[in-house]
Amino acid sequence: MTRLRAHPTRLLTRLLTRLLAGLLAVAILAAGCSDADTPGAGTPSGGSPDPAPGSSPAAPGPSTVTLPPRPPKPPKPLAGRVVVLDPGHQLGNARFPAEINRRVDAGGFTKACNTTGTSSDDGYPEATFVWEVAVELRKRLRRLGARVVLTRDDNTADAWGPCIDERGRIGNPGEPGPTADVRVSIHADGNRSSSAHGFHVIRPGRRDGWTDDVLAPSERLALALRDALVTAGFAPSTYLGEDGIDVRTDLGTLNHSDVPVVMAELGNMRDAGDAAAMEGAAGRQRYARALSTAIRAFLTG
Ligand SMILES: [Zn+2]
Repeated sequence: MTRLRAHPTRLLTRLLTRLLAGLLAVAILAAGCSDADTPGAGTPSGGSPDPAPGSSPAAPGPSTVTLPPRPPKPPKPLAGRVVVLDPGHQLGNARFPAEINRRVDAGGFTKACNTTGTSSDDGYPEATFVWEVAVELRKRLRRLGARVVLTRDDNTADAWGPCIDERGRIGNPGEPGPTADVRVSIHADGNRSSSAHGFHVIRPGRRDGWTDDVLAPSERLALALRDALVTAGFAPSTYLGEDGIDVRTDLGTLNHSDVPVVMAELGNMRDAGDAAAMEGAAGRQRYARALSTAIRAFLTG
């Protein structure tokens, strides 16, 4: 501060010199010169205050200040991956009995196009629960870089379907749209036995010509989902499957898939404890977080 007060003229000279150098740099840049080694071009521009003139030379020399290159952003863990999420049923299915009872191919045999799904004792529909989990899960997967395809566009009482065969084919190689790396069908069960609660993950059983191509990765996917749900604090089913995993050959959505696939029955909506988790936003986020963790583990493991 003493030197600043002692030499006001020198200070003014230096500041003017720097200002001129800054203006020169701007002029050079405006003329299309981007060479940072051009004398004066790299000098901090006049907008940058420089209140410490005491020890620097009177005239600014060629700039030696070079910012280190920014490290490239690491790619997101699921960048380039495609996930098909299949929220089961549709809120309007019950209003369209002819459409959803139509028989469709379920993997070498026929079955109803779709069903109404269940609900909690409070009247919270399965179609709405699985839709809300799927939307939350989509948000999380997108943040990880994945492209997410849902098998239905909305949750509305004015619509039905799609049928199980279409749900199982969306994302298959050769189908319109991107080819999926994984398909997760999301459901909840409705069992009125008082001791029935907990989730189970259904993986496809062997149906030659249908599921034999995806059996092994689907089993790995099922284990990833089971483990993530347990880690998130959800209890495996007390009444279906074994250690939270069931194997079925009668589900059209699984049979039609040519990519690794499972159906997650996230709990029993008729059980008060399971229903409480499903009906609250925090519980649904916990489900979605667990499913996201599992899909990430499966795709990157
Ligand atoms: Zn269902």
